[in-house]
Amino acid sequence: MIGHVTRCIPVDPCAPALDALQEAAECLKSGGLVAFPTETVYGLGGNALDGRAVQRIFEAKGRPATDPLIVHLPAVEALPMVVKSIPDVVSTLAEHFWPGPLTLILPRGEKVPLSVTAGLDTVAVRVPSHPVAQALLRVSGLAIAAPSANRFGGVSPTTAGHVLRDLEGRIDMVLDGGATPIGVESTVLDISTAVPRILRPGGVSREALEAVLGPVDLLERKASQEEAQASPGLLEKHYAPHHARLILVEIPQNEGLQEAFAHLVTQAEQSGARVGALIADEDLAWLETQFPAMARLALGSLNDPGTVARNLYAGMRAMDEAGMDVILVRDFGTAGLGLAIRDRLYRAASQIVRHIAQNGA
Ligand code: AMP
Ligand code: MG
Repeated sequence: MIGHVTRCIPVDPCAPALDALQEAAECLKSGGLVAFPTETVYGLGGNALDGRAVQRIFEAKGRPATDPLIVHLPAVEALPMVVKSIPDVVSTLAEHFWPGPLTLILPRGEKVPLSVTAGLDTVAVRVPSHPVAQALLRVSGLAIAAPSANRFGGVSPTTAGHVLRDLEGRIDMVLDGGATPIGVESTVLDISTAVPRILRPGGVSREALEAVLGPVDLLERKASQEEAQASPGLLEKHYAPHHARLILVEIPQNEGLQEAFAHLVTQAEQSGARVGALIADEDLAWLETQFPAMARLALGSLNDPGTVARNLYAGMRAMDEAGMDVILVRDFGTAGLGLAIRDRLYRAASQIVRHIAQNGA
């Protein structure tokens, strides 16, 4: 597989052509790997019930076998293909959130290889809404295992160009359906506990889940630097740029944010580092005044975390590719998709600044 030519086939994101879908479906049925757009990010798809195809997914990504995959289905009716039993709450959740960016942890069906679930007796399942993903699932008739289509540990891809940069020559095909609309991964929900628990915040907000389920817990994720302190050597960076160090500035007040940026920029530039900033639309004016020459990218308004989420990964990749050594990122709060944005920034960050004069920043 590795070393093959990767074919990139453009498709209409709203109405993909049948011949492209059939070709992709044949490839999957013969054990091949096809990347395709979902509403969250691009997925790296393989037949979930074919152990060899699953093995190839792990190889192409360089993903450790201990990290389980999400299985994609065309509709809730297909659940018996991959799960052993269906808890009652699933029909309510499916009615409200499927197709869409919600992944449920369910009892693993016997046909699902243990390699998919990293040996667990549960399997993560979701029904994606993107027309290309939907059509591919229906035309192929397969359950498709599909982690994000990037090298393990890197930033998830939101365009076919991102996929090719990471996996060219390592997968058979990419269906190019343009940029993905949500831009961060699905929400992973554990419904086996009395109070359902979000294992990973994502495209369905905690508020939306609580409107349907009542209270929902959140598995608190410590920032990677805090994890590193708790268990040095075990830190596994995720969602992180290849080259640049990402510094998250988690200071809500505007003056504090500006002061911290000023301090960090001076510090970085003194050591000869190139600094770029990922900021909100609302920051453009003061940034322009204080740092007219600094590379910057506004991801969206503070009132619109959906837009910020859509632009986040492309922004991180752009700064990395422009050769920045340090990327300063402002915090975007926790409302709506803000929670997913903060989770990803925590995982990507080398440093989090919460106070101005601590450790010199
Ligand atoms: P992705 O990298 O987007 O494919 O996300 C897969 C993630 O879903 C994993 O890294 C886990 O965090 C989560 N996941 C998948 N399967 C399970 C499972 N059986 N139990 C708990 N979490 C799971
Ligand atoms: Mg991933």
